[in-house]
Amino acid sequence: MKKLLGGMAFSALLITGSWGYRFLIIGTGGVTGVYYPTGGAICKLLNRYKRETNLKCSVESTEGSLSNLRELKKGELDFGIAQSDIVFQAYHGKGEFKGHPYSSLRVVFSIYPELLTLVVRKDSGIKNLLQLKGHKINIGAPGSGNSEAVKTLFQAIPNLSLSDVKVTQLKSTEAPVALREGKIEGYFYMVGHPADNIRESASAVGIKIIPLDSPGVAKLVKERSYYEWGTIPGGIYKGVDKPVKSYGVKAILVTDAKMEPEVVYRLTKAVLDNFEEFKKMHPAYRHLTKQDLLKGFDLKLLHPGARRAFEEEGLLEKSGKTEK
Ligand code: GLU
Repeated sequence: MKKLLGGMAFSALLITGSWGYRFLIIGTGGVTGVYYPTGGAICKLLNRYKRETNLKCSVESTEGSLSNLRELKKGELDFGIAQSDIVFQAYHGKGEFKGHPYSSLRVVFSIYPELLTLVVRKDSGIKNLLQLKGHKINIGAPGSGNSEAVKTLFQAIPNLSLSDVKVTQLKSTEAPVALREGKIEGYFYMVGHPADNIRESASAVGIKIIPLDSPGVAKLVKERSYYEWGTIPGGIYKGVDKPVKSYGVKAILVTDAKMEPEVVYRLTKAVLDNFEEFKKMHPAYRHLTKQDLLKGFDLKLLHPGARRAFEEEGLLEKSGKTEK
């Protein structure tokens, strides 16, 4: 019966073109980040099939991970992009989700690595994390995944606390402007590279990117399954010629368990069927493999619609449980 109802919902959704399109919204991030163009790239591929699917996708600019998960939970968004640390915390009821786990949160696929990036003005003289003391530093807006990751970092570093720093919580798009105007001396951004946001800063003032690889960071990366080491390549930002070591997470496309499997299947298939083209849509994903889309999260969170697309692609063993 359940299956039959699912099938009926599916036909109403996908076959009745004369009823108009079903609109889908993906929550992203600030327009100069990488979530925003990523949402755009996914929608572009999905919209290519709109005559067959009746699905029309568009993006919304938001504060980032936390805000996307909250809106998804309320049913205000259909999909959202979020950091893998925030996805983990939400599902398990940790961090900002303490006492109210988001247990119907589901993963569509993981996309690309994001690295915590500490951008400072060259003239600030800041050379390492401990030297942030007394300086004006933006940690990210409330609702961003960025500010959550920075709070976790400060808790892990001995001899450094957020109260040692003059903290601002500007939006990601405001940080480069504040840096240029001298209102802040640096900012953190958990983002894929290259990001327009950092390009904007690098071309407006002399910048440095501070390595985040101290023993305190190493302990954090070792302890938390969702963190991984990474390198911000040299030469992608003006004045930053050498690679910089840091750590980070995966950017993950998520939805709610109540999203119809057929919709999630179509979206996933649109990306898998056009994967070489997708990879060229932003340099942050140029080295991706299809297998990478299944890394950085617990596979038990995979939405059944996405599972079906990955199984058909031969990337996952058939579980026998997939709803079709
Ligand atoms: N990772 C950031 C956040 O959730 C957003 C990065 C982006 O927009 O590319 O706060």
